[in-house]
Amino acid sequence: MKLPVSETFYSIQGEGVNVGRPALFIRVYGCNKRCVWCDSSYSYEGGSYSLFSEERVIRMIEQSFVKTVVLTGGEPAIYHDFFSRLIDLAPAAYFMETNGTIWIEDLIEKLDFISISPKLSSSGADFDIGLIKRYVDNVHNGEIKFVIADMQDIEEAIGIINALSNKKNAVSIVFQPAEISGEDYLHQIQMVYQAIMKNQFLNSLKTLRFIPQVHKLCNLK
Ligand code: SF4
Repeated sequence: MKLPVSETFYSIQGEGVNVGRPALFIRVYGCNKRCVWCDSSYSYEGGSYSLFSEERVIRMIEQSFVKTVVLTGGEPAIYHDFFSRLIDLAPAAYFMETNGTIWIEDLIEKLDFISISPKLSSSGADFDIGLIKRYVDNVHNGEIKFVIADMQDIEEAIGIINALSNKKNAVSIVFQPAEISGEDYLHQIQMVYQAIMKNQFLNSLKTLRFIPQVHKLCNLK
């Protein structure tokens, strides 16, 4: 099997609790959702892609001076069998960013970090609470990342947090303001910040983190 790749690049991680960490990003082509504010829609429609053989991906990782690999998309879980083999063949630290709607039995133990991002109402997509719980119960190092556009998203995120088992204490809970086309991102950050600061429940969570997209604020890739 060949992997459809939208792009590969070196940068720092701009989102979540690993912000600032240098990484080689592998952005796959293809996604099972269509979020209205998606900032990488070129990775599932309209954009171009190349088919990478397993040997080509292994060579790229072996030749990389950065030894953290971020599997992103699109939705990388679609290609879990490819990545499961890759991790066995090309040693590195592997992180994955997923919407949490595809289960990855063969991969979950092998990944060094998983960012699980349930798509809330403002996205126009949906999430599967059963699968989100399963991810949180099985991940050994990760975060649950809520992309927040409005107050309804915050209420929905709180509902998900309440539905999770106590194992949620092992993952960071990240609130990330959404970047909405035509809106000022700093204004969006302020809105989400104000809402979180007023929320007693969220502030009581030891693992809560409020983290805007740093690469966008700094105009990095
Ligand atoms: S799941 Fe991620 S990649 Fe897919 S449409 Fe939503 S934001 Fe975009």
